[in-house]
Amino acid sequence: MPKKKAIVLDASAFIAGLDPFSLEGHAFTVPGVRSEVSPSSMGSLRLRLAEESGKLTVKEPSSEALEEARKASALLGDAIKLSDVDVELLALAIELKGEGYETLIITDDYAIQNVAKRLGIAFSPVATFGIKEGLTWVVYCPACFARFPGDLAVKECPICGTPLKRKPLRKGGGHGDRPS
Ligand SMILES: [Zn+2]
Repeated sequence: MPKKKAIVLDASAFIAGLDPFSLEGHAFTVPGVRSEVSPSSMGSLRLRLAEESGKLTVKEPSSEALEEARKASALLGDAIKLSDVDVELLALAIELKGEGYETLIITDDYAIQNVAKRLGIAFSPVATFGIKEGLTWVVYCPACFARFPGDLAVKECPICGTPLKRKPLRKGGGHGDRPS
């Protein structure tokens, strides 16, 4: 019998306009992703509709899976670039794989992709699913608002020392994800 498919979506998938209904397999994400997708956006609407219809399950990973995800990311030295939500997504993928699902993470986030690779979990960039605009990431300082490239390898602001944050930066910035 073919394995059941679990597709784990991160915020970049929703922000870039991926529709869970277009996926073959059941979609999963973690509660924290809701707060990373702006509330009035199409991404947020798609997330809610998919959840209400049962196409998408929003689920918190177990503490064992979280621990495993943290270990794998620490080994790669990617921990500084992974948010709590990123670690939860990886943990959810670990958990689903353990439950016998064929698991795929859809994300444009390189740090998540690297840790997934290490864990032997398949991943795909959002563009694979017909979404034209990939996301680029920007690292920024929440205190002095300085911006840095998304692959910056330090965790504190070189200007003022505040811990840096990271967010997806949509290319083009248009309003291309209207309902069809
Ligand atoms: Zn700063």
